[in-house]
Amino acid sequence: MKVSKLLMPTLREVPAEAEIKSHQLMLRAGLMRKTASGVYSYLPLGVKTLQNVEKIIREGMNNHGAQELLMPAILPKEILEESGRWEVFGPEMFRLKDRNSRDYCLGPTHEEMFTITVRDEVRSYKNLPLTLYQIQTKYRDERRPRFGVMRSREFIMKDAYSFDLNEEGLDASYKEMYNAYCEIFDRMKLDYTVVDADSGAMGGSGSQEFMVKSDVGEDTIAYCQECGYAANEEKMAGVPSSCVCPQGDMKIEKIHTPNVKTIEDLIKLFSCEPTLFVKTIIYKADGKPVAVMVRGDRDVNETKLQNYLGCLELEMADPQTVYDVTGAAVGFAGPVGIKCDVLMDLEVEKMKNFIIGANETDYHFKNVQPGRDFTPTATLDLRNVVCGDACPKCGGKIKTAQGIEVGHIFKLGTKYSKALGCTCLDEKGEDRTIIMGCYGIGVNRCVAAIVEQSSDENGIIWPVDVAPFKAIIVPVNEENQEQMALAEEIYNTLKSKGIDVLIDDRHERPGVKFKDADLIGIPVRITVGKKAADGIVEYKLRTEKESVDMTAEEAISSAIKYITQ
Ligand code: ATP
Ligand code: MG
Repeated sequence: MKVSKLLMPTLREVPAEAEIKSHQLMLRAGLMRKTASGVYSYLPLGVKTLQNVEKIIREGMNNHGAQELLMPAILPKEILEESGRWEVFGPEMFRLKDRNSRDYCLGPTHEEMFTITVRDEVRSYKNLPLTLYQIQTKYRDERRPRFGVMRSREFIMKDAYSFDLNEEGLDASYKEMYNAYCEIFDRMKLDYTVVDADSGAMGGSGSQEFMVKSDVGEDTIAYCQECGYAANEEKMAGVPSSCVCPQGDMKIEKIHTPNVKTIEDLIKLFSCEPTLFVKTIIYKADGKPVAVMVRGDRDVNETKLQNYLGCLELEMADPQTVYDVTGAAVGFAGPVGIKCDVLMDLEVEKMKNFIIGANETDYHFKNVQPGRDFTPTATLDLRNVVCGDACPKCGGKIKTAQGIEVGHIFKLGTKYSKALGCTCLDEKGEDRTIIMGCYGIGVNRCVAAIVEQSSDENGIIWPVDVAPFKAIIVPVNEENQEQMALAEEIYNTLKSKGIDVLIDDRHERPGVKFKDADLIGIPVRITVGKKAADGIVEYKLRTEKESVDMTAEEAISSAIKYITQ
């Protein structure tokens, strides 16, 4: 492809709309443009990159026995009603009506469609196991679309679903996908960590996420440096730390604490550490108030809470609800005499003589003891783990880092097959409910994650398999016939070998050409300048600082070796 003909609108300035590196570079390199919040259009370089990522995914899936299908993006309401998800999805799902007022949605995910397909098309165990996938556009009206295509409202997902007759079959299919994912992300040259993930209230039996460590990641990963165990923060069990409160059987005391509403206010007033306080937070779970207690310096883990309660909607209670259950303004809630269920974090169970709201405006209690002054409805792990916590597996020290979730594998069990009647006949001719797994990869998010991990001050550094073009030939002076002839010869030779190659034939200064080549991240650059007369060119890899002089033949064979290795 000639650069003069390529729609490649690179930008010198950093676009104001983009906060993070990958978003800035994807705009600057002319890969894409924003159409609406969380909705993007792809230009030629962007499309080629996406197609390369899709190719890597497709080959990985096919290598591991998965078969490709393509489902519609528009799904009729009835299909999601059968599984009960028409309601569950809430505002994240784009809903629409046809001209006859029939309800549809734009598919946010496709468990139902695949389950129905297998229900209708597979009769016998002889057709199992089966892993089916598609690479297709998903629609989710995200609460906070941001960071370009990292979290968008229209995005491409590879979603796969496995169908097995028994648990052992599911384990094998799951392992196969795990291996496929490792192969796929290795080929993308992503530096990733596989972490244990939450499998939800209905609980599948296992779930893992493929995380790319990055400061801009929206997920928190907790990992143990000693034994290597890693989990999503939502999932990792909190190990209670030992109590630092005063010991002994001290008498409960009510203290006047006017206008003291936050933990910071309390620390100032009592001039002590937040580890001597307990926070009581009132939530509404499907409308019903519930109080949650965690140590003063901890955060409630809403995933753990929601899993325990099995509720669809969880939100912080409004001041009126807080008043109804505590009889006090916000900031003075506590377990003693409260009019709702009380859930206590495991760590609080170990605490003695702590300070907590008295359910009376402007008052706190001192020296409160669980069991003596109140009895919680349940005691369980309800907090987020933090850096320095003990590892739940080996007792080592936990560290935390931010991660970008690029893929997710999940043992679904029979959640959808039961709801949708997806059964088949086993060896004995008996009807059995099929056991499922599901496996997702965010295609556009992978592209963004690669850029996030692989760039320098000059632009993107594409791994070879992902790069939209593998090599770029730069004649320094396109009006010089000798240079142009040699440049074209190299270009044509690489092209004839099936390599996606660019020739920068624009009437531009070499500096401009080099800047663009670096910005768009082409792995190999071959510059044809003054030494063309002697058949010498400059060979430079995007990953290296310096170029090397070599003959055109050497440059061609080095390029072919590097690109096809
Ligand atoms: P997240 O926690 O980031 O919202 P999710 O749990 O909703 O992700 P899944 O439903 O498991 O995601 O989707 C599979 C994959 O699709 C994710 O691992 C991610 O890579 C990608 N993905 C999900 N939501 C988005 C989005 N809004 N924009 C881009 N990619 C997404
Ligand atoms: Mg999501």
